[in-house]
Amino acid sequence: MAGVILKNVCKVYDGGMLAVDHINLEIRDREFMVLVGPSGCGKSTTLRMIAGLEEISSGTITIGSREVNNVPPKDRDIAMVFQNYALYPHMTVYDNMAFGLRLRKFSKADIDKRVRSAAEILGMQDYLNRKPKALSGGQRQRVAVGRAIVRKPKVFLFDEPLSNLDAKMRVQMRTEISKLHTRLETTMIYVTHDQTEAMTMGDRICVMKDGVIQQVDTPMNIYDRPANTFVAGFIGTPPMNVFRGRVQRYDNRLVFKNDAMSIQLPDGWKESALPYAEKEILFGIRPEEIGTESTTGASRQVIHARIEVIEPMGAETYLYLDVPTETGNTCIARVDAHKTVKVGETLDLPLRFDNAHLFDPESTQILV
Ligand code: ADP
Repeated sequence: MAGVILKNVCKVYDGGMLAVDHINLEIRDREFMVLVGPSGCGKSTTLRMIAGLEEISSGTITIGSREVNNVPPKDRDIAMVFQNYALYPHMTVYDNMAFGLRLRKFSKADIDKRVRSAAEILGMQDYLNRKPKALSGGQRQRVAVGRAIVRKPKVFLFDEPLSNLDAKMRVQMRTEISKLHTRLETTMIYVTHDQTEAMTMGDRICVMKDGVIQQVDTPMNIYDRPANTFVAGFIGTPPMNVFRGRVQRYDNRLVFKNDAMSIQLPDGWKESALPYAEKEILFGIRPEEIGTESTTGASRQVIHARIEVIEPMGAETYLYLDVPTETGNTCIARVDAHKTVKVGETLDLPLRFDNAHLFDPESTQILV
């Protein structure tokens, strides 16, 4: 059992590319930590530095109580599962799982015990004599995971392990890996570009962009309180709608205003919004906070918009609205599937403020 600590870790590739920029991250013992971000943000590089497959340009990495900067990968007590499985095609499932243990001179009896136990955990007992080409994608992925399990490592590292699977198998393997984490009670670090995997699997999520950590927290804390507009747009599907507008002051009230909306800001936001009076600000609201249920009265807060596209999802419907957002996405409302609306219709869509925020227009950091 071991935690992993990264202190001021940087990676500069040959040619001067700064792929990882002063990362500080503490992954606790037995935690499931997901590194997530768009392609090229430095998550694989970070994982590979933890594994020892990539040299660290500066900073320190500690696994358990040991600094591992100069420890070769095989002595780090980690096991890594790759996207492409990296199975030996000419070996059976059994031999693929046993291979690493044989190299390390484990006894035949110990190897057999470990391989059979891993196969049982993964439901692969009946496939031990097959070669990888006679397995489905999901089964191959299980063998790759099995090969990691038999080592009984202190830390499991996963690099986009599900991206070669079809959508249904991805969802199934997602829950299997989560169950595995509960069963093995081992530290796991998991890299993905898929925010749904991050949300559903992580005890905590580390969101990265351009080699820099944007936020580290539990999935729900990140969803409810994203540190900046990048995180707000990256975590959650559909993403948070972020609008640019101005704060206007009317006596005792503050109003967010642009062409599509004029919204009185909640009293609790006043202190944070007051410095922006008569200036620009960003207002973010989750798609589920924009409804179609009509409300009346003085407190009526609406977006005035035309419906451009309707996407029925079954349990709910996404409405794509003709309101520009900061992220370049179309403004999306997530509404009751049984509400009848038509493309081309112009509506006043009422807002709730349970998951709405203000952001600074320059730094894009959250204000409230
Ligand atoms: P991610 O896993 O988030 O997609 P990577 O860690 O693979 O990102 O890459 C981070 C950045 O470093 C990218 O801009 C990528 O092009 C660059 N990079 C990755 N590997 C190398 C390499 N071997 N040499 C030079 N640049 C690299």
